[in-house]
Parts: sequence; structure tokens; C-alpha cells
Amino acid sequence: MKIQKLVLASHNAGKINEMRQILAPYGVEIVSAAELNLSDVEETGTTFAENAALKAEALAAQSGLPCLADDSGLCVAALDGRPGVYSARYAADNETRINKLLAELKQSGRADRSAYFACVLALKLPAAPIRFFEGRVNGRIIDVRRGNMGFGYDPVFVPDGETRTFAEMTNAEKSAISHRGRALAQFVREVFETA
Ligand code: IMP
Repeated sequence: MKIQKLVLASHNAGKINEMRQILAPYGVEIVSAAELNLSDVEETGTTFAENAALKAEALAAQSGLPCLADDSGLCVAALDGRPGVYSARYAADNETRINKLLAELKQSGRADRSAYFACVLALKLPAAPIRFFEGRVNGRIIDVRRGNMGFGYDPVFVPDGETRTFAEMTNAEKSAISHRGRALAQFVREVFETA
């Protein structure tokens, strides 16, 4: 099926920007859930895939359009994988989320700073089962914020093989290696380039 219009099931402007840039070359009209005034979907799942599927199903039903939903988060080894699926709800805003993360890491007494971002995309097309696309990027958490690009935990995440944080990279540099960039690359390969 040729997708002409796609709803992005997210209210996070940072995510929408990244996804819009990556999908720009494929001639698909991208609309966000906010632009269509669609209501928020409660993330009651316990995995990224479950939450992405919940959002994709609900917003495809509300809009009557093909829908791509993203669920993502940061999994920190010394915190036994937290905040994980609760990354957005870990604290009230980006500032306090990072403060809480750094405080918990210190409290853990563990030297291991390894972490990864994971992203699962769920695609719901009319009259078709949901399809999933996944991406992950390994890295480490640093103690002092660096950079002012990106969003969320970007200022304290340095991906493997890099010296800069995600917040010190342009969208294009980040997307070339990020969890969301990788999941979207798989989506593009399987949905647009093999159609
Ligand atoms: P959700 O997918 O809407 O549940 O939110 C995921 C949360 O994980 C975001 O609000 C951010 O806090 C965090 N997150 C996901 N992807 C990224 C990223 O690329 N950079 C920084 N933080 C991210």
C-alpha cells in the first residue's frame, strides 16, 4: 500500500522533528497527533512494544489514517534498566528527570555508567495487523550536562564511539546512530523502499 498521509502518534516536539526530517524524502504527508487534536493515549503497557501498539491502534482508530507510533526510553545498567518504559514519567520535566537520574546513579554506589536508548515503532495501516520496527543505541551517562540540542536525556548521554553527547549533535548526526534513527531506517527500508 502506498502511504500518502501518516499520523505520528506523539505529542513530543523533539521526536516529531526528528521523525519529520527522516521521512521528508519519501513524499508522505506527516501530521502529528497534536495537529489533529487527537487525545493522548495512556501508556499502560509494560514494554516499549506494548505501549507503541496501544498508541498506534488508538490514534489510527481516532483519525481513520495510517499511524506510526513511537515508544522509547533510556535503560540504565546501574539502575537495573530503569527508567525504561517510565522515562517520560520519571519526573515532571527534563530538568528534574536528569537531576533524579544523576542522583540515583550516585546513590547506587555503582561505577557502571553504561546505558542504552531503545525505540520501538508500531505501524498501523487500515485493515492490517500492526508491524514493529526497533532500534537501540548503546552509550554511557555522564555526570555533567553538555549541549543544548536534542531533547530529554540527550545532554547526559554519550553514544559509544563518540565523545559528544546527543545534545551536542545536530538532528542529522544524532539520527544517523540513534535508537529512533535506526528504527526509522528499518521502517523506511521495509515500507517505502521495498513497496
Ligand atoms: P515516550 O516514548 O513518549 O513514553 O517518552 C520517552 C521518553 O524517553 C522521552 O520523554 C524522553 O524523556 C526519553 N527519550 C526517548 N528518546 C529520547 C532521545 O532520543 N533523547 C533523549 N531522551 C529520549
